[in-house]
Amino acid sequence: MADLTEKIPVAVLGATGTVGQRMLVLLEHHPWFELVAVMASSRSTGRPYGEVVEWVQTTPIPALAAALVVGPCVAVDPPPIVFSALDASVAADIEQSFAHAGCVVVSNASSHRMHRHVPLLIPEVNADHLALAADQDFGTGAILTNPNCSTIGLALALAPLHQTYEVDRVHVVTLQALSGAGMPGVQAMSALDNVIPYIPGEVDKLREETPKILGSMNDGVLVNAHINVSAQCNRVPVSDGHTLCVSVGLRRPALPYEVEATLAVFRGPDDVAALPSAPRLPIHVLNAVDAPQPRLHRDLEHGMALAVGQVRPCPLLSVSFVCLSHNTLRGAAGGSMLVAELAVSRGLVSGSG
Ligand code: NAP
Repeated sequence: MADLTEKIPVAVLGATGTVGQRMLVLLEHHPWFELVAVMASSRSTGRPYGEVVEWVQTTPIPALAAALVVGPCVAVDPPPIVFSALDASVAADIEQSFAHAGCVVVSNASSHRMHRHVPLLIPEVNADHLALAADQDFGTGAILTNPNCSTIGLALALAPLHQTYEVDRVHVVTLQALSGAGMPGVQAMSALDNVIPYIPGEVDKLREETPKILGSMNDGVLVNAHINVSAQCNRVPVSDGHTLCVSVGLRRPALPYEVEATLAVFRGPDDVAALPSAPRLPIHVLNAVDAPQPRLHRDLEHGMALAVGQVRPCPLLSVSFVCLSHNTLRGAAGGSMLVAELAVSRGLVSGSG
């Protein structure tokens, strides 16, 4: 656990968007971090955050954030930690400029996720991948990334199975919430009473990110896991919470009750479990016949735990299950907090650890 005498100043890039808003809510009472700057596009800059933001959270805008004047995404005198909730189309250059200015950038955007020296972190699963940052050439700072919001749920469920039985094949069908599309999101006439079987880029992210997250470090080099992922992604009329219907091929046989037990006892490293945003149990195995469901289970452990149910033998692969995670909490803002806390506790942020 980090021994902090005072809170660490942080900024949020893309603070006006769906994920940025969630970050501000989580930062309001964060024990380690203090929000000092909010930044967004030229559409929003120069006015108080409370006046420009189209607030879509169910809690009020934090008073401190509301009063901050929205700045441009320019790395002038930035704080040591910068959270990025930028649109991927603009994130790459902006995030690099903040890293060059000495910041630890914790990004939700896809721009740097597959860079070989950028860790793609789920702290309970692959905290050791943080070592990759030592070889980055983004100046004196670093870029750390959060996986795609569906990939986080998938990889968190697969991690204990891969450790115990070795996963080699996965087929996943996603049912993804509307909030995953950002602001202003999917038009009501497209979303209501409908399922849209296309989310740009999502299939590739599930296929590419999962082997990286579940890969292992070998002499400072990340070796991807040999896992083939076949994915089909759908947008559904749910506000928050991505549901994944998963079938997994295992190299070593396992019965459903053994899979349930393996998932239920999974824990991250002790120092990760002690971080402020870490859930008590990363994975909750639910026994109700109709679980998990987004409205009932997305908020487990403040939206940071994965809910798993429907564990069954799979006649095509080895085992199947349904898992659910909160896409803007565990899948984005909350996951980013956990990554930043990991970076602090392991000494990556100057003056901490
Ligand atoms: P969003 O609602 O569309 O918000 C995008 C943010 O980027 C806004 O603050 C916007 O500012 C800012 N921005 C856009 N163009 C900019 C520019 N040229 N310069 C500076 N800022 C600019 O998106 P989101 O859903 O919050 O997602 C943010 C990032 O997280 C994306 O990369 C997304 O793929 C990723 N992500 C999202 C989720 C999710 O569930 N939503 C989950 C995981 C990861 P203005 O308001 O001023 O335009």
